[in-house]
Amino acid sequence: MTFMPNFNSAEELAAHQLKGLRWTVAHAQAGSPFYARRLQEAGVTPGDIKSLDDLRGLPFTMTDDLRAGYPFPLLSVPIEEVVRVHASSGTTGKRKVLAYTQKDLDDWAHMFARCYEMAGLTRADRVQIMVGYGVWTAGVGFQAGCERFGALALPVGPGNLEMQWQFLVDFQSTVMCSTSSMALLMAEEIKRRGLGDQVKINKLIYGSERTSEAMRQRISQALGAELFDIPGLTELYGPGTGIECRAHQGIHYWADYYILEILDPVSLEPVAPGEIGEMVVTTLCKEAAPLIRYRTRDLCRLLPEPCPCGNILPRHGRIMGRSDDMIKFRAVNIYPGQIDHVLSQSPGVGSEYQVHLRRGEDGRDYMVIMVERAPEGSAGDDQAVAASISKGVKAHILVSAEIQVMDYGSLPRSERKSQRIFDRREEV
Ligand code: ZN
Repeated sequence: MTFMPNFNSAEELAAHQLKGLRWTVAHAQAGSPFYARRLQEAGVTPGDIKSLDDLRGLPFTMTDDLRAGYPFPLLSVPIEEVVRVHASSGTTGKRKVLAYTQKDLDDWAHMFARCYEMAGLTRADRVQIMVGYGVWTAGVGFQAGCERFGALALPVGPGNLEMQWQFLVDFQSTVMCSTSSMALLMAEEIKRRGLGDQVKINKLIYGSERTSEAMRQRISQALGAELFDIPGLTELYGPGTGIECRAHQGIHYWADYYILEILDPVSLEPVAPGEIGEMVVTTLCKEAAPLIRYRTRDLCRLLPEPCPCGNILPRHGRIMGRSDDMIKFRAVNIYPGQIDHVLSQSPGVGSEYQVHLRRGEDGRDYMVIMVERAPEGSAGDDQAVAASISKGVKAHILVSAEIQVMDYGSLPRSERKSQRIFDRREEV
């Protein structure tokens, strides 16, 4: 049994997408007063959708639209057809709540089963699910997908470390689904307790958002498992709408369930293939709360080349951060995630950094990146470290920056997300 689509070519996939796009626009217009009004304002009717290019004429849907429609935003079916709601984190009233029909839940389970298939699981695998259950989409998504796939689900949930150990050993779990910090904690504890021989974990499925490259390497080393990045967005069903494959070169996404556009967050025009932009999604068969050009605010790039694994489902790179954090520097869009990436590839660098932007007397913009030397590094290597970072920045981000290497521990640390970008260009 396979959960992969039976498309043989990009053309067949495109034909399927066009059919789904037409259905979605007609369904949303007929079922949702919100969408009916939006489409009317944009002067679009379902009959106008003749090719996939006509997607560009459709209006955007934003986070604020979800909040305005609370508690049933974007609802496009009679309420009797709704069988469940899920919510994303956030304070009351600002929470994003999304409704699901039974078909939506079936589709989600199918997509998630496909994730397990792509990660190379078999029905003999035992999947220990260590993520949150309840109103959040995570736990129940991992579980329904596992059951649909036919592997054994162990729904432990987060925390409860003693039970996690016991289950890892007694049930001989082979796959762990958790956050990256939980995975690291478990991996280090397996070593400390000398349980290496008794634990059989060989795969970890985790959401990499806010996980640095360095952290991923630490987990993979400590756990000795194959890692699979699984992105997820409550608005778009939840986790399971794509996953890293065994070639480990990006994330395949389920283009037979949604269309992914990558747009410049300022101009809202498509970026060139392979460039970073905001992920904008349009669902193709979602009933209760369909998405039409929903702006996720997440940044990533498409990977246009065919994947070595041979699967024709398209790929995107890992999520690089939020579009609200974007800066424009000498006509280039820059995201903190890109600088993160360059620094993680540069030896001799600690994890803290700051980016300072100022306007010179010549009217041009200048960038200084302050980085900490690695704890074990020596000041004698600073010049070489700076030169290597500068080269990396030029190669990957296409801008010039001055690099200042500082003592380890000299940049401020904070429990909350540290401020990285200091833009003083308007102050001159
Ligand atoms: Zn692949």
